[in-house]
Amino acid sequence: MTASPAEIAAMRRAIAISAAGFGGTSPNPPVGCVVVDSGGRVVGEGYHERKGEAHAEAQALAAAGPLAAGGTAVVTLEPCNHEGRTPACRQALIDAKVSRVVIAVIDPTSRGAGGAAALRAAGIDVEAGVLADEARVVLGPWLTAFSAGRPLVTWPYVISDQGITALPDHAEDAQVFRLNVDAVLRADGSVAEAVPGSHGAGILRLHHEPGGNPAEIASSLYGGGVRHLLLAGGLAVSAPFLAAGLIDRVHAYIPDGRPSRTPVALLPWPQVPPGFVITDAARVPGFVRIQAHRTVSA
Ligand SMILES: [Zn+2]
Repeated sequence: MTASPAEIAAMRRAIAISAAGFGGTSPNPPVGCVVVDSGGRVVGEGYHERKGEAHAEAQALAAAGPLAAGGTAVVTLEPCNHEGRTPACRQALIDAKVSRVVIAVIDPTSRGAGGAAALRAAGIDVEAGVLADEARVVLGPWLTAFSAGRPLVTWPYVISDQGITALPDHAEDAQVFRLNVDAVLRADGSVAEAVPGSHGAGILRLHHEPGGNPAEIASSLYGGGVRHLLLAGGLAVSAPFLAAGLIDRVHAYIPDGRPSRTPVALLPWPQVPPGFVITDAARVPGFVRIQAHRTVSA
């Protein structure tokens, strides 16, 4: 049996609400869950907000209460199979007597047989791989960080006849970036939680040795729980990361208005660094914003 239209709709809702976990759940993934009853009606939904707090499935099952029995849990990532700070979600699903679980992405961190296998063993119908590509829009940074053993690194910058400089902190987009990442590395080498207190006290360990090389800094921050790092600075802070192939996404801000007569060929590269491809372009207040992704991981 493939996913029903109601389950597909529920999965898109689960993906959408899971993004509310950006900037809060690390080192856990941002996950969303929607429970629908046998008639296809939504009876509960939830998302993981931060480490140590209830997982998405537990939130959604609590909202659904007895209406979850006989229904379907639609979840963006395979339910966990191990007792940690919170009870295993596969057991919560079994206890709630759902008859079916629809999963987008199988958890690559599952130890041994994952939650999907345990649910099947308990007689629950499990469908995996539903809207997996769309779920990866939200889970992507966490998945990339896990496979690379370092945070996903995003670098916004302004490119003008002044050269390549930091996106000013007061720019509207700078605030948006901070909401969506765990930590910020500044031009002076300091690292801070992107939104103070967003991960709960003491969850992220941000210390790194001054003067460390970018790979060591990235790996040390990963060990401290950071899954998405923002570089807040111009070329000076980013050049070592670029050279080491450690920047995954760039956002270039080109001031709008009349084109400069200053030859931009003096810059080290045009608009986006070598090895990046443009994926989006938009006008934002004061700028044209070009987004680009690294095409191959280093
Ligand atoms: Zn869980």
